[in-house]
Order: sequence, then structure tokens, then C-alpha cells
Amino acid sequence: MSRFLNNRLNKISPYVPGEQPRDKRYIKLNTNENPYPPSEAAVRSVTKKALRGLRLYSDPDCDSLSKAAAECFGVSKDCVLPTNGSDEALAFCFAAFCDCGAVFPDVTYGFYKVFADLFGVEYEQIPLDNDFAVNVQRFSGVGRTVFLANPNAQTGIYLDEREIERIVKSNKNNVVVIDEAYIDFGGKSAVGLIDQCDNLVVVRTLSKSRALAGARVGFALASKALTDDLKRVKFSFNPYNINSLSEQLAVAALRDTEYFESTCKAVAATRDRLSAELRAIGCTVLPSKANFVLAKSPTVGGADLYKRLKDAGILVRHFGDERIADFVRITVGTDEQTDILLSVIKNTEGV
Ligand SMILES: *Cc1c(COP(=O)(O)O)cnc(C)c1O
Repeated sequence: MSRFLNNRLNKISPYVPGEQPRDKRYIKLNTNENPYPPSEAAVRSVTKKALRGLRLYSDPDCDSLSKAAAECFGVSKDCVLPTNGSDEALAFCFAAFCDCGAVFPDVTYGFYKVFADLFGVEYEQIPLDNDFAVNVQRFSGVGRTVFLANPNAQTGIYLDEREIERIVKSNKNNVVVIDEAYIDFGGKSAVGLIDQCDNLVVVRTLSKSRALAGARVGFALASKALTDDLKRVKFSFNPYNINSLSEQLAVAALRDTEYFESTCKAVAATRDRLSAELRAIGCTVLPSKANFVLAKSPTVGGADLYKRLKDAGILVRHFGDERIADFVRITVGTDEQTDILLSVIKNTEGV
């Protein structure tokens, strides 16, 4: 750290991404990437013409992407703000709506805390129940901006639409941000509530279910008024936030419904098989609607299991947070990767 760094950044603990090691080839099940490639139509959209087009700035209004997203998510185009990954949508929400402070669960996406610190937002972490479910009652009428991932990050546990509606409607005077990074793997989106709820922001991403993590495309979906607020942040920060190649990739990926549905279905089926087989050998597996499972061996600790799997060439994620320290988070891979993972776990001494 230099002596020039400002105080706020001096005190911040930046987000720690999952490791992306290059030392050898791993079966990579640690950052919830999609095991299948992006839509072939998306890949084909990056033509020579598109590359030559890089001479020009990208479209600051993201017109074609906003249109494609509006169609895909069933909202009006005025209700869509494309962002550089959904992380940027979340950052904009922290920048725009948090004078009143923020709340989020004690176990959730680690970036919420980092953004709160970065933007000087006071926050409270509301504990999940003992079974790791979000306690709807405790998120009702909180008087602060609510950030909830649904399905929740790290646990994979899903709240149904009625429970989300209860939280949104009980916080009428505060914005409620529902981060739906994993919704396509088995949940129902809250986006249908946008018309009735002028305090709801739904955040989506193409990183997980559309297999475009490297393209960095996400969205904020909300009433026109809230979307306009978020556009104020974007145009005060980075008007060209979506590069033109990513815009083309994203439009093509959003339109390829058939491929999208078949890969989401495959991931969900593998997830359910992985969960069942882990339970059959005595592991605790939280009920996941996401593309990962949080699992605990009856005998081997989380840090130890992470290490043993890494030694065997399989990367999973271990979090130090006290409440989930006994667990590892395993991204759902292909069936073949899952078979290898299961055989390694079954042969790990003491599991
Ligand atoms: C992966 C993830 C994101 C970030 O996704 P990007 O669109 O790649 O920035 C946001 N929220 C949650 C809960 C995630 O797991």
C-alpha cells in the first residue's frame, strides 16, 4: 500500500475471487462457471466485421442488448440497464439507493459487504436460520435497502416468489435488490413483480446460466424510475460500460433459448444426482436450486476436504466464514466431472 491511498480503501478488505490457477489442469468446480460452452450462435456473432467495428465506441445506450433482454425477461426496454457483469449492477445499487444503510444475510455473496465498505454504506447482517434458510420475517420492514441473492449464494437455498413478494411489499419505502445470478437453474424470477413494485430491482447475469462469465454482461431490471436512477450512476462513471463484442455475444446468447434451456436442464439434473450421491455416503448437502451445492462430510473438515480434492486435481471452494467452515462449495460440472469428483470423495480416507 502506498502512502497516497485514501482512508476508506486503506480499511477495506477487497473481494477475493475463486482461484484461477495455471500450474496444472484442474477439474474446476470452484467459481460456479457453466461446464458447457456458450451458445454456438453467440460464438459465431464475433465476426471479422464485429472486430473491425472496435474502432468505434460501443453504444452507450446498449440499444440492441436492452431490446433483446427486454424480450427475454418480459419487461419493457425502459426497465433494463445492461451492466459490466451483474457485479456492476450491484455496485450501482449500492451507489444509488443506500443513504438509509443496507441489510443482507450473514451468509451470502461476499461482494455485498465489499461494496458497502467501498461506498461508505452502513450495513447490518441478518443471520440465516439454523437450517441456513433466509428468515422472511426478519427481512420484513427493515427500513434499509435489502440485498438478497435468490437462490442464496453459498447455500443454494431458494425462496419462492410469494416469499420474495412479502419481503418487497413489506419494505415499501426502501429498495429491495434481488440478485438472481442462479435463478435459471430451478427458480422462478421475481421480475414479474416489477410492474407492481416500484421499489424492486432484479439483478441478472449471463455469467452462469448463459456460460458467458468472461464476457462480463449483467442487467438491472426495475421500474423505469429506478432504472433511470441507475443510469445516472452509469453515466457518471462509465458510459461505455459494455464493450461491443460482449453486446453482440449477449444478444445472440439471449435469443438462443433452446440451447439455454437444454444446458440449464442438464446442470440441474447433474446437481440433483450429485446431491443424492453425496447424501448416500453420509454427507450433509443443503437443498440447492443453483448450479452448486454446499456439502459437508461427516468426518473430514471443510478446509481439509478442499485440500485433499485439490491434491487430486479437483478445485472446489472453501470459505473461512465460521458458519460454513465445515462445508465446501462444489460447482456442478458435467456428468463426467461429477463421476470423477464422486469417486475421489469416496476414496478419500475418512470421508
Ligand atoms: C457470480 C455472482 C455474481 C456476479 O456475476 P457477474 O455477472 O459475473 O458479475 C453476482 N451475484 C452472485 C450471487 C453471484 O454468485
